Amino acid sequence: MRERKISESTIHRLSHYYRALNTLEKEHFETISSKELAKREKLTPAQVRKDLSFFGSFGTRGLGYPVKELKGRIAKILGIDRTWNVALIGVGNIGSALVSYKEFQRQGFNIKVLFDSDQRKIGSNHKGITVLDTDHLEEELQKNKIELVVLAVPASAAQNIVDHVVHCGIKAILNFAPIKLKVPDDVEIRTENMAMELEYLSFTLVNNKKGERKKT
Ligand code: ATP
Repeated sequence: MRERKISESTIHRLSHYYRALNTLEKEHFETISSKELAKREKLTPAQVRKDLSFFGSFGTRGLGYPVKELKGRIAKILGIDRTWNVALIGVGNIGSALVSYKEFQRQGFNIKVLFDSDQRKIGSNHKGITVLDTDHLEEELQKNKIELVVLAVPASAAQNIVDHVVHCGIKAILNFAPIKLKVPDDVEIRTENMAMELEYLSFTLVNNKKGERKKT
Protein backbone atom coordinates (compact mmCIF):
# COMPACT_ATOMS: atom_id res chain seq x y z
CA MET A 1 0.00 0.00 0.00
CA ARG A 2 1.21 3.47 -0.83
CA GLU A 3 2.18 5.64 2.11
CA ARG A 4 -0.34 8.41 1.72
CA LYS A 5 -2.64 9.81 4.35
CA ILE A 6 -6.15 8.44 3.99
CA SER A 7 -8.83 11.02 4.71
CA GLU A 8 -11.60 10.46 7.22
CA SER A 9 -14.21 10.74 4.45
CA THR A 10 -12.44 7.99 2.45
CA ILE A 11 -12.52 5.71 5.50
CA HIS A 12 -16.24 6.41 5.92
CA ARG A 13 -16.86 5.65 2.25
CA LEU A 14 -15.02 2.33 2.65
CA SER A 15 -17.39 1.48 5.51
CA HIS A 16 -20.31 2.26 3.20
CA TYR A 17 -18.85 0.14 0.38
CA TYR A 18 -18.35 -2.68 2.85
CA ARG A 19 -22.03 -2.59 3.83
CA ALA A 20 -23.17 -2.36 0.21
CA LEU A 21 -20.98 -5.37 -0.70
CA ASN A 22 -22.36 -7.30 2.24
CA THR A 23 -25.88 -6.75 0.92
CA LEU A 24 -24.79 -7.64 -2.64
CA GLU A 25 -23.22 -10.86 -1.38
CA LYS A 26 -26.48 -11.80 0.37
CA GLU A 27 -28.30 -11.05 -2.89
CA HIS A 28 -25.90 -13.51 -4.64
CA PHE A 29 -24.17 -10.94 -6.86
CA GLU A 30 -20.74 -12.14 -7.94
CA THR A 31 -19.47 -8.92 -9.50
CA ILE A 32 -20.35 -5.24 -9.31
CA SER A 33 -19.34 -2.39 -11.61
CA SER A 34 -18.06 0.90 -10.25
CA LYS A 35 -21.11 2.49 -11.88
CA GLU A 36 -23.55 0.27 -9.97
CA LEU A 37 -21.69 0.61 -6.67
CA ALA A 38 -21.60 4.37 -7.14
CA LYS A 39 -25.34 4.43 -7.85
CA ARG A 40 -26.07 2.51 -4.65
CA GLU A 41 -23.91 4.88 -2.62
CA LYS A 42 -25.01 8.06 -4.41
CA LEU A 43 -21.43 8.78 -5.53
CA THR A 44 -19.77 9.14 -8.92
CA PRO A 45 -18.17 6.06 -10.53
CA ALA A 46 -14.92 8.05 -10.70
CA GLN A 47 -14.98 8.53 -6.92
CA VAL A 48 -15.48 4.79 -6.34
CA ARG A 49 -12.67 3.90 -8.74
CA LYS A 50 -10.39 6.46 -7.14
CA ASP A 51 -11.11 5.22 -3.59
CA LEU A 52 -10.53 1.60 -4.50
CA SER A 53 -7.47 2.17 -6.68
CA PHE A 54 -5.87 3.83 -3.68
CA PHE A 55 -5.51 0.39 -2.10
CA GLY A 56 -4.19 -1.46 -5.12
CA SER A 57 -5.79 -2.93 -8.19
CA PHE A 58 -9.23 -4.41 -7.81
CA GLY A 59 -11.49 -5.79 -10.49
CA THR A 60 -11.16 -6.33 -14.21
CA ARG A 61 -12.05 -3.80 -16.87
CA GLY A 62 -15.45 -4.63 -18.27
CA LEU A 63 -16.20 -7.27 -15.64
CA GLY A 64 -16.36 -5.09 -12.56
CA TYR A 65 -15.20 -5.95 -9.06
CA PRO A 66 -15.59 -9.44 -7.58
CA VAL A 67 -18.00 -8.81 -4.67
CA LYS A 68 -16.66 -11.36 -2.20
CA GLU A 69 -13.02 -10.55 -2.77
CA LEU A 70 -13.55 -6.79 -2.64
CA LYS A 71 -15.55 -7.12 0.60
CA GLY A 72 -12.74 -9.18 2.11
CA ARG A 73 -10.09 -6.71 1.08
CA ILE A 74 -12.04 -3.73 2.44
CA ALA A 75 -12.57 -5.63 5.71
CA LYS A 76 -8.81 -6.08 5.91
CA ILE A 77 -8.13 -2.40 5.21
CA LEU A 78 -10.65 -1.41 7.90
CA GLY A 79 -9.20 -3.94 10.34
CA ILE A 80 -12.53 -5.74 10.74
CA ASP A 81 -11.29 -9.07 9.38
CA ARG A 82 -10.40 -9.93 12.99
CA THR A 83 -11.89 -9.43 16.46
CA TRP A 84 -11.05 -6.63 18.88
CA ASN A 85 -11.10 -6.77 22.66
CA VAL A 86 -13.29 -3.95 23.95
CA ALA A 87 -13.90 -2.57 27.46
CA LEU A 88 -16.95 -0.51 28.27
CA ILE A 89 -16.75 1.96 31.14
CA GLY A 90 -19.98 3.27 32.67
CA VAL A 91 -22.88 0.85 32.73
CA GLY A 92 -25.69 3.44 32.93
CA ASN A 93 -28.52 3.81 30.43
CA ILE A 94 -26.31 4.26 27.38
CA GLY A 95 -23.68 1.73 28.54
CA SER A 96 -26.24 -1.03 29.16
CA ALA A 97 -27.82 -0.41 25.76
CA LEU A 98 -24.40 -0.69 24.11
CA VAL A 99 -23.68 -4.03 25.82
CA SER A 100 -26.90 -5.36 24.28
CA TYR A 101 -26.20 -3.91 20.85
CA LYS A 102 -25.57 -7.01 18.71
CA GLU A 103 -24.00 -5.15 15.79
CA PHE A 104 -20.77 -4.59 17.76
CA GLN A 105 -20.31 -8.34 18.21
CA ARG A 106 -21.24 -9.03 14.59
CA GLN A 107 -18.54 -6.63 13.43
CA GLY A 108 -15.94 -8.28 15.65
CA PHE A 109 -16.00 -5.77 18.51
CA ASN A 110 -16.04 -8.10 21.46
CA ILE A 111 -17.02 -6.40 24.73
CA LYS A 112 -14.94 -8.37 27.22
CA VAL A 113 -15.10 -6.26 30.38
CA LEU A 114 -17.44 -3.75 31.97
CA PHE A 115 -16.54 -1.16 34.59
CA ASP A 116 -18.47 1.15 36.87
CA SER A 117 -17.75 3.02 40.07
CA ASP A 118 -21.24 2.58 41.57
CA GLN A 119 -21.10 -0.05 44.35
CA ARG A 120 -24.68 -1.10 43.48
CA LYS A 121 -23.62 -1.96 39.93
CA ILE A 122 -20.25 -3.60 40.65
CA GLY A 123 -20.69 -7.39 40.57
CA SER A 124 -23.93 -7.20 38.59
CA ASN A 125 -24.20 -9.06 35.31
CA HIS A 126 -24.98 -7.72 31.82
CA LYS A 127 -25.27 -10.23 28.98
CA GLY A 128 -23.01 -12.62 30.88
CA ILE A 129 -20.34 -10.01 31.69
CA THR A 130 -19.71 -9.00 35.30
CA VAL A 131 -19.31 -5.30 36.10
CA LEU A 132 -15.89 -4.62 37.65
CA ASP A 133 -14.82 -1.79 39.94
CA THR A 134 -13.04 1.06 38.16
CA ASP A 135 -10.52 0.95 41.02
CA HIS A 136 -9.04 -2.05 39.17
CA LEU A 137 -9.27 -0.41 35.74
CA GLU A 138 -5.61 -0.38 34.76
CA GLU A 139 -4.81 -3.95 35.82
CA GLU A 140 -7.99 -5.38 34.24
CA LEU A 141 -7.43 -3.55 30.94
CA GLN A 142 -4.00 -5.13 30.74
CA LYS A 143 -5.12 -8.54 31.97
CA ASN A 144 -7.91 -8.73 29.37
CA LYS A 145 -5.66 -7.40 26.57
CA ILE A 146 -8.10 -4.58 25.84
CA GLU A 147 -7.41 -2.68 22.62
CA LEU A 148 -10.42 -0.38 22.38
CA VAL A 149 -12.39 1.45 25.08
CA VAL A 150 -15.99 2.66 24.97
CA LEU A 151 -16.74 5.40 27.47
CA ALA A 152 -20.29 5.99 28.72
CA VAL A 153 -19.70 7.88 31.96
CA PRO A 154 -20.96 11.37 32.86
CA ALA A 155 -19.01 14.31 31.44
CA SER A 156 -17.65 15.20 34.89
CA ALA A 157 -15.89 11.82 35.24
CA ALA A 158 -14.72 11.36 31.66
CA GLN A 159 -11.34 13.16 31.51
CA ASN A 160 -10.01 11.47 34.62
CA ILE A 161 -10.96 8.03 33.28
CA VAL A 162 -9.53 8.77 29.85
CA ASP A 163 -6.22 9.74 31.44
CA HIS A 164 -6.05 6.32 33.14
CA VAL A 165 -7.07 4.54 29.94
CA VAL A 166 -4.38 6.37 27.95
CA HIS A 167 -1.84 5.59 30.66
CA CYS A 168 -2.55 1.89 30.02
CA GLY A 169 -1.54 2.28 26.38
CA ILE A 170 -5.03 2.24 24.85
CA LYS A 171 -4.93 3.97 21.45
CA ALA A 172 -8.60 3.97 20.42
CA ILE A 173 -11.56 5.36 22.39
CA LEU A 174 -15.22 5.78 21.53
CA ASN A 175 -16.63 8.44 23.82
CA PHE A 176 -20.32 8.90 24.58
CA ALA A 177 -19.75 11.44 27.37
CA PRO A 178 -20.96 14.84 26.15
CA ILE A 179 -17.58 16.54 26.48
CA LYS A 180 -14.47 17.14 24.37
CA LEU A 181 -11.67 15.11 25.90
CA LYS A 182 -7.93 15.68 25.68
CA VAL A 183 -5.75 12.82 24.54
CA PRO A 184 -2.18 12.62 23.18
CA ASP A 185 -1.69 12.81 19.41
CA ASP A 186 -1.13 9.08 19.04
CA VAL A 187 -4.55 8.26 20.56
CA GLU A 188 -7.65 8.31 18.38
CA ILE A 189 -10.85 9.40 20.11
CA ARG A 190 -14.29 9.62 18.51
CA THR A 191 -17.02 11.45 20.38
CA GLU A 192 -20.61 10.48 19.73
CA ASN A 193 -22.88 13.22 21.01
CA MET A 194 -26.45 12.24 20.26
CA ALA A 195 -27.93 15.43 21.72
CA MET A 196 -25.74 17.44 19.33
CA GLU A 197 -26.98 15.37 16.41
CA LEU A 198 -30.55 16.21 17.43
CA GLU A 199 -29.53 19.86 17.72
CA TYR A 200 -28.27 19.69 14.14
CA LEU A 201 -31.61 18.28 13.03
CA SER A 202 -33.54 20.90 14.97
CA PHE A 203 -31.43 23.56 13.25
CA THR A 204 -32.31 22.16 9.83
CA LEU A 205 -35.99 22.15 10.82
CA VAL A 206 -36.08 25.75 12.01
CA ASN A 207 -34.03 26.90 9.01
CA ASN A 208 -35.84 24.77 6.44
CA LYS A 209 -32.47 23.48 5.29
CA LYS A 210 -33.43 20.07 3.98
CA GLY A 211 -36.09 20.27 1.29
CA GLU A 212 -39.27 22.26 1.39
CA ARG A 213 -41.95 20.75 3.53
CA LYS A 214 -45.17 20.32 1.61
CA LYS A 215 -47.58 23.16 2.12
CA THR A 216 -51.00 21.89 3.04
P1 ATP B 1 -26.46 7.41 30.90
O1 ATP B 1 -25.61 8.65 30.91
O2 ATP B 1 -25.75 6.26 30.29
O3 ATP B 1 -27.84 7.63 30.41
P2 ATP B 1 -27.23 7.33 33.69
O4 ATP B 1 -28.10 8.50 33.56
O5 ATP B 1 -27.79 6.08 34.23
O6 ATP B 1 -26.56 6.88 32.37
P3 ATP B 1 -24.77 8.72 34.35
O7 ATP B 1 -24.79 9.60 35.53
O8 ATP B 1 -24.66 9.36 33.01
O9 ATP B 1 -25.99 7.71 34.53
O10 ATP B 1 -23.59 7.68 34.50
C1 ATP B 1 -23.37 6.64 33.57
C2 ATP B 1 -22.72 5.49 34.29
O11 ATP B 1 -21.38 5.87 34.62
C3 ATP B 1 -23.39 5.14 35.60
O12 ATP B 1 -23.56 3.73 35.67
C4 ATP B 1 -22.43 5.62 36.68
O13 ATP B 1 -22.47 4.83 37.84
C5 ATP B 1 -21.10 5.48 35.94
N1 ATP B 1 -20.05 6.33 36.49
C6 ATP B 1 -20.13 7.58 36.99
N2 ATP B 1 -18.92 8.04 37.37
C7 ATP B 1 -18.05 7.03 37.09
C8 ATP B 1 -16.64 6.87 37.25
N3 ATP B 1 -15.87 7.82 37.76
N4 ATP B 1 -16.10 5.69 36.88
C9 ATP B 1 -16.86 4.72 36.34
N5 ATP B 1 -18.19 4.80 36.15
C10 ATP B 1 -18.77 5.94 36.53
